[in-house]
Amino acid sequence: MLPSRRVWPVTVNRGRAEGDQLMMRGSCLCKAITFTVNGDIRNARYCHCKNCRKFSGASAAPWAITETAKLKMTSTDANVSKFNSGRGLRCFCSDCGSPVWFESLKYPEIIAIPLGVLDDEGIPAPEMHIWTQSQPAWSSIDDDLPQYKTNPPT
Ligand SMILES: [Zn+2]
Ligand SMILES: [Zn+2]
Repeated sequence: MLPSRRVWPVTVNRGRAEGDQLMMRGSCLCKAITFTVNGDIRNARYCHCKNCRKFSGASAAPWAITETAKLKMTSTDANVSKFNSGRGLRCFCSDCGSPVWFESLKYPEIIAIPLGVLDDEGIPAPEMHIWTQSQPAWSSIDDDLPQYKTNPPT
């Protein structure tokens, strides 16, 4: 009889229980828009697509996703303006212009948050670069993260 394989206790980190989750705050530059995200921000990545470049004004925009239901406004939504860039609504502050989130038309249950508007610690670091085929010649990537010409394989 083979010795029984030692089974290590498996600790699956699923974050804290619902209701006790890390609350991350986000805000626009002028603070007219404030919101919280109830933990579980994931799939952080730099997007080099032209839309993100224009929307952010930067060479690439760092985004992560969460469930739409986990985003809660802590201000009124009076300043939330939305621009349909094709695949979704790019939401921004009508006073200061900060991008605040992206509402996908195809996957309304998912929302993307630009990492730069989050105010708390614990923000996941981007894991990859996507849409590098749209990268302008003046920008460079100076890390070893995986790069994908368009969307990453699923
Ligand atoms: Zn603002
Ligand atoms: Zn993009």
